[in-house]
Amino acid sequence: MKIHLLGTAAAKPVPRIFCSCRGCRVARREGGRSLRTRSSTSIYLGDDSPQDVRYKVDLGPDAHLHQIQFGECLDRLEHLLYTHAHADHVHPYWLSLRRQAIAKEGIAPLQVWANARVMELLADLDLDAANMTAHLVEPGKAFRAGELEVVPLNAMHPEVEPCINFAVTAEDTTVLLAWDTGYWDEPTWNAARDLRFDAVIMELTVNGPDGPASGPYHHNVESFLKMKQRMEALNMLNDGAPFVSTHMGDNGQFSHDEAQAYWTPHGVTVGYDGLLIEV
Ligand SMILES: [Zn+2]
Ligand SMILES: [Zn+2]
Repeated sequence: MKIHLLGTAAAKPVPRIFCSCRGCRVARREGGRSLRTRSSTSIYLGDDSPQDVRYKVDLGPDAHLHQIQFGECLDRLEHLLYTHAHADHVHPYWLSLRRQAIAKEGIAPLQVWANARVMELLADLDLDAANMTAHLVEPGKAFRAGELEVVPLNAMHPEVEPCINFAVTAEDTTVLLAWDTGYWDEPTWNAARDLRFDAVIMELTVNGPDGPASGPYHHNVESFLKMKQRMEALNMLNDGAPFVSTHMGDNGQFSHDEAQAYWTPHGVTVGYDGLLIEV
């Protein structure tokens, strides 16, 4: 399995165009990996690639940019899993374009997996015309999406409850995709207790020591590390499992290089737009 992080920013792209905070100024000056677009993640099985994506988690506002940057093509997309109903993860406009595709016979049927709040955002779409089927996702109710076995876990992100962190298994590999969450509550730890991860991709909205905190519903440096340490203590990480950050705001004020220098001793890989994780 490969996990492709095409966009690794929190709700706002980094740098924010009107912002003069240290994080945004450094990102403008350095460019490269310090520039991040909004959250986008693809799962590749077998020979899948950006040109023939079959499995995707979230489809946010920067999808067109990712097509330009990475050659991403979604005409073969079979399964789209949504985490939650925030606008940096759900942008119904893209799905509305499916019915306008010129090559009608070319576009694959799409299974959309979403919780009730996301379904409300998608309510105006003509599913039949867009060749889509919607499936309701509820925390704790495992489901199978094509070749993926999926365990939906309840994230700590109550503003748009439920928000789902996905444990995804395919090709004998299990990966945790956990963004838009703070430190899990005990029922979620309990629901995840039998899972063993070959990789963890986890959000880190406040990436750095000096930024404004964003409350308990996103991670900062301390809560991110606390999650990792508890997973290690509970033997939830298989040997050599990469632990990767994504969904990073400018809040923490780190540039990419500063973040990597900070996180390397903790065994964390700092995500960036374009990072391909093979497990
Ligand atoms: Zn978000
Ligand atoms: Zn959110």
